[in-house]
Formats: sequence, C-alpha cells, structure tokens
Amino acid sequence: MLMKSDADMTKADSSDADVGVPVSVKIRERIQQARKRFHSNDNIAEFIEPGELEKLLEEVTDKMQGVLDAMVIDTENDHNTGDTARRVAKMYLNEVFRGRYVTGPEVTEFPNAEHLNELMIVGPITVRSACSHHLCPVIGKIWIGVMPNEHTNVIGLSKYARMAEWIMGRPQIQEEAVVQLADLIQEKTQPDGLAIVMEASHYCMAWRGVKDMDSRMINSVMRGVFLKDPNLRREFLSLIPRRS
Ligand SMILES: [Zn+2]
Repeated sequence: MLMKSDADMTKADSSDADVGVPVSVKIRERIQQARKRFHSNDNIAEFIEPGELEKLLEEVTDKMQGVLDAMVIDTENDHNTGDTARRVAKMYLNEVFRGRYVTGPEVTEFPNAEHLNELMIVGPITVRSACSHHLCPVIGKIWIGVMPNEHTNVIGLSKYARMAEWIMGRPQIQEEAVVQLADLIQEKTQPDGLAIVMEASHYCMAWRGVKDMDSRMINSVMRGVFLKDPNLRREFLSLIPRRS
C-alpha cells in the first residue's frame, strides 16, 4: 500500500514538474532511458509522441530566433528576416532533416517469383542531404546494385528512392550515410550481394573552406558477392555512368 501511494505521488510530482520542460528534453530523456543513440544521423521517430513534432517546431523557432538575435540581425524591422526563424525551423524539421523525425517508408516486399538472379542496377537516384559538420548541403547521386537470389524479396524501384530519401534526410556524413542505406536495403531485401556508389558535391567545400566548386566525394559499399567476386564488382562499376 505504502509503495503504491509513493509511486502515485512520484507520478503526480513529475507531471507537475513537466510543465515548462522543453519538449526536446522530454524526447531526449526517453531516448536515454532506452539507451539508444541520438546522433545527427539517427532516426528518433519512435520516441516522439503525437503532437510533439509541432511543439518541437515552436522550440526550434525560438532557438533559431536566438541565433539571429545573437548575429545582431534586426528581425523586427528587417522585412526579409522577420519570419526567417520559423522558416528555417520548418525547413529543418519538416523538409531537409525529416528523416530523423518520421518513421521509415512503407516497403512492400514480394517473393522473387521469377527467380531473378541477374545483376540489377538502380540509379542514378538524386540524393539531398547536409553535412553534420556545417549543416551545408550535400547533393549528389547514388547507384545501387542488387544481386538477387531465390529467397530475395523484390521491392518496387521507387522504394529505393524512398529509402535513400529517408536516410539522406538527416545531417549526414557521406561514409556513414551509404552504410546506413546499405543496412536498410539489406534488411528489406536480403540479396546475395549489394553495392552502393555515391557521388556528391559538398557545399561546405564550395561555399566556404577551400571554396573548390568542382570537388566531389565518391564512396562505395560492397557486400556479399560484390565483395567476393571482382568480376561482378567490375561489371557493376562499368555499368554506372558517372561523372556526367
Ligand atoms: Zn561540412
């Protein structure tokens, strides 16, 4: 009995204390309780309750307004920046970093009824992201090679683009992004082999830093038969028309 009333009191106390706690703190506490990671390129949708994304938008707007204030921009009188804090908050949460806050795309898998066992290449898929170092745009293309077997699940071509969009819609590091995408495709389709090549321009190199407009970063992930079979790897790489 005593235990119960103690627990009740704790519960009442904590909900009272909840008032005024920023929603980001509540979400963070849930993630920490579950001992999960919340790096910039992690998806945290399972820890966000209905209605909280709207509150998060208010919070990010406030903080973004603080950044503009700290940059000594007169947002009260400057007609161009009056609504910038909200626009940037919306852009981050609802558009460019949406892949952190929403659950993954629905991917319907079909059995490989035709017993497809030939190399299949999807691409180029245009991908848009931002680097987690500067939050500068990263824009590029990816090509995906899939080597199916009789147990591989077949998914619609557009689903590859949806999965890429979800993974790239987070502040990313290109090397980690391709690994995350490979893990996701691997999990959904279970192929014999999987290859991904990504080529992208990093605006943190073009707009700032070394200001090199032409440099691109290319990286790849090879799994399964693509790792074991150099001929297959060569075939895949020769079939993707890069450097357009
Ligand atoms: Zn950067």
